[in-house]
Amino acid sequence: MIKSGKNIDYASRMLKDDGIVVIPTETVYGLGGNAININSINKIYSLKKRPKNDPLICHTDSLDKILKHVNKIPETAYKLAEKFWPGPMTIIFEKKNIIPNLTTSNLNTVAFRIPKKKITLELFKSLNFPVAAPSANIFGYISPTSIEHVHKNFSNGIDYILDGGNCKLGIESTILGLKKNKILIYRLGSLILNDIKKIGDIELFNNEENYPGSFKTHYSPRKKLYIGDIKSLCKSYQHKKIGILCFDKKYEYVDKKKQIVLSDKSCLNEASRNLYSSLYKLDSMKNIEIIISSLLPNDFIGTTINDRLKKSAE
Ligand code: AMP
Ligand code: MG
Repeated sequence: MIKSGKNIDYASRMLKDDGIVVIPTETVYGLGGNAININSINKIYSLKKRPKNDPLICHTDSLDKILKHVNKIPETAYKLAEKFWPGPMTIIFEKKNIIPNLTTSNLNTVAFRIPKKKITLELFKSLNFPVAAPSANIFGYISPTSIEHVHKNFSNGIDYILDGGNCKLGIESTILGLKKNKILIYRLGSLILNDIKKIGDIELFNNEENYPGSFKTHYSPRKKLYIGDIKSLCKSYQHKKIGILCFDKKYEYVDKKKQIVLSDKSCLNEASRNLYSSLYKLDSMKNIEIIISSLLPNDFIGTTINDRLKKSAE
């Protein structure tokens, strides 16, 4: 069993010693290692079985530390940082050579985030290097929002799990780039577009083929997930053992024990927090062969939830 606890000093020593530490954040748990150390980065890629053309996000606790690793912080990035950091936002910068090409899949840019999680920021304060931390799951599987999920993915190779309880937001960060006068949205995430628009004009990046690390399937349970109208999907797959991921109420077509409600208050934030943990539960239920869900209201965080549901179902 991988060692876990709230010992920041121990986690810090492990990271300084090229070790791998799972870190809690407000979005999902990350598989952390020294972002400027090739040995640590190689360990992250091989543990996660992640393709090397999928660059890692670097995490730290201050703009000063980011400045040591990037060529410049543009004016708009300062504005975004002031409003949304610490928080679920990742910004792409031009990188300095101190960031190894292995960390960024040979791109001349690097992604940085300052997460909002007290224990993790304390840990970062003790380090003089950023922590590369992709989600702490095997590549392509559902991202972890609790340490139980981390244990479902890994049984060894990790030096320590820093326990921060359940993740408050439950979906990954929003990834932004800065282009002339526009804020380019590379990946939808927990920071919603309505809020980003308050800082500047946004443009959705949709050239999927050239986007590093944008894979069609992602965040997927092992069981096949179908998205659409629940009633007709239940009819089409009536010969299968069906589980339903419901937004705010259970349906009459299937045994209620095989259904999970994301938010009985129809609250999208609650649905977002519960999305991955509900998928983990449905995926591990023995009496279910396939999972059925419908898209949620496509507003606010609902847009991000729908993006993840579609990618899980590909
Ligand atoms: P995650 O797997 O949640 O840690 O997110 C990593 C994702 O961030 C990658 O799959 C890329 O989509 C994106 N990313 C990281 N670094 C860069 C970069 N330099 N340029 C563009 N996207 C990046
Ligand atoms: Mg991930």
